[in-house]
Amino acid sequence: MTKIELRSLDLEEMEALMREINEPPFRAKQLAQWIHQKGVESLGQIGNFSQNLKNKLGEYSKITVLKLVKKQVSRDGTEKFLFGLEDGNFLECVLMRYRGTKSKQRNTLCVSSQVGCAMGCGFCATGLSGFQRNLTAGEILSQVYTVNNYLKDDNEIIGNVVYMGMGEPMANFANVLKSIRLLNAPYGQNIGIRRITLSTCGIVPKIIELADMDLDLVLAVSLHAPTDNLRSQIMPINNKYPLKELKKACLYYNQKTGRRITFEYALIEGFNDAKQHAKELAHYLRRLFCHVNLIPVNPVVTEKYQRPDQKKIKEFLAVLTDGGIEVSIREERGTDILAACGQLRGKVVE
Ligand code: SAH
Ligand code: SF4
Repeated sequence: MTKIELRSLDLEEMEALMREINEPPFRAKQLAQWIHQKGVESLGQIGNFSQNLKNKLGEYSKITVLKLVKKQVSRDGTEKFLFGLEDGNFLECVLMRYRGTKSKQRNTLCVSSQVGCAMGCGFCATGLSGFQRNLTAGEILSQVYTVNNYLKDDNEIIGNVVYMGMGEPMANFANVLKSIRLLNAPYGQNIGIRRITLSTCGIVPKIIELADMDLDLVLAVSLHAPTDNLRSQIMPINNKYPLKELKKACLYYNQKTGRRITFEYALIEGFNDAKQHAKELAHYLRRLFCHVNLIPVNPVVTEKYQRPDQKKIKEFLAVLTDGGIEVSIREERGTDILAACGQLRGKVVE
């Protein structure tokens, strides 16, 4: 019998589990708190359950744990975790610590939603390494719980979660949504929904679905090029959902939710970084309630994609600003340990 993964269950499902083993429903609430709030790593750590109940639970269920294979710390303090999964696959997640004056710092964790990615974007290390499988909701959440357990020693906590690690979240939408709801649950981490960001390469029907759900999260869309011709060269998904359709879906998202969309644009030297491209981008973004995040492309396995120099980046930014577009340049973090955008591969490399 395959055991049920407790970290993938919400409160209702835990209630059903308790019914099945003839336990009162209040036990489910307690279990949910142990699993999703305290992040226990074994049933043995549950304080207020009898040994008998723990044994019963153990027959039916288990707690997914991530095995730390490697932790790297960047010059800028960014930490990258390589975790081993039960089936021998690996995943990576990235912790960005923000030092301030508050006693409990709100750190950001960038989580993976899949092992690898099937979308095949040419500039992305995850895309270049192919697709292995979807992560379960419990495996997605385990990244947060495990890192939070480390942070407890420093009296720190994860306050923001961004789905920008390995994988395309909208290609594993059900598990991703479940993990988001559980992060937000009061019996779990209680992370405000507006502190959660989902980044997608532009799976149009899922953007529409998300708009209809009225989830107040932050939506980021990886755009990276202002014309179909250019975008299709680096993002195969554009052949399926070209820019015109993507814009329609984004407008719908704006209208339906009243929320601003972040567009990510990786600046690649000699490819999409000319003033003309900036003008085309400003034109494309007309009528959209949005913000543009420029990311000077990070070096990945191939030499093909280089970042433009500062002057070029500033010029690009100026054209957008003049066009009335809100824009910022993403602060670079963790490039020295291959922890920056698009550099995650989930492989053990020496
Ligand atoms: N699959 C999702 C989320 C993960 S990638 C998506 O594509 O949106 C997170 C962000 O990093 C995306 O905007 C992605 O396009 C970008 N990215 C990928 N490779 C990059 C690289 N080499 N340099 C800079 N950004 C990159
Ligand atoms: Fe997948 Fe996103 Fe990388 Fe594209 S950029 S290959 S969608 S992870």
